[in-house]
Amino acid sequence: RTTHFGYQEVPVEEKASRVADVFHSVAARYDVMNDLMSLGIHRLWKRLTIERSGVRPGHSVLDIAGGTGDLTLKFSRMVGPRGRVVLADINQSMLRVGRDKLLDNGVGGNVEYVQANAECLPFPDNSFDCITIAFGLRNVTDKDAALRSMARVLKPGGRLLVLEFSKPNNPMLTRAYDEYSFRLLPFMGQMVAGDSDSYRYLAESIRMHPDQETLKDMMEAAGLERVEYTNLTGGIVALHRGIKL
Ligand code: SAM
Repeated sequence: RTTHFGYQEVPVEEKASRVADVFHSVAARYDVMNDLMSLGIHRLWKRLTIERSGVRPGHSVLDIAGGTGDLTLKFSRMVGPRGRVVLADINQSMLRVGRDKLLDNGVGGNVEYVQANAECLPFPDNSFDCITIAFGLRNVTDKDAALRSMARVLKPGGRLLVLEFSKPNNPMLTRAYDEYSFRLLPFMGQMVAGDSDSYRYLAESIRMHPDQETLKDMMEAAGLERVEYTNLTGGIVALHRGIKL
């Protein structure tokens, strides 16, 4: 069986290790590159995710594919000492950078760090009030399995929020965005991080990712209900939300 690594067709077993190489390679400079590549706009996309999460003091939150922990940092303040936030990622390098950043920011006892694959989450059924996956789902090999696994560990009434690149909704924007991501992005990756291949993969993986309606259907098929999405920045990014009833 084969799957996609960016535009390349690769054996299913190979995708995970190729993705792992990308994130080992970008971990140290991930935050700087994020700010640079999105001109800081990823902060606004993440802020909306936080606002739509409905997280309150005492809640249990899973930030899967949480990487360097931007969302975890905010959630840990929102849930307070009686709540908990699990920062989980498949990649040890990203998790290490995330943990160091959170400790530097004074985050304490309510955050746990877990190395885990979104496709088979190591948590009991009905564990979390809210799960977020931000810019992570497109890197996962079996997205349907990951969505099912997230639905399983959500508590009844809990929310899943998927923040991910999507399809721009106007042709002019699509052209400008293609120019930007296929020319400028690998160039910036080379100049700032000495690594154009990883950034070329990121641009390609964005194009291969399911569009807004397809992802909505996938979430419903995984058992989530009342699924809706909001386009952000002209559909360059979409925030999907579903509830486990
Ligand atoms: N959520 C963070 C953010 O928004 O800044 C990090 C996003 S980063 C682009 C994608 C993350 O997904 C990486 O840290 C990568 O290791 C992680 N990842 C890729 N495949 C995964 C999987 N199958 N399970 C869990 N995490 C995965």
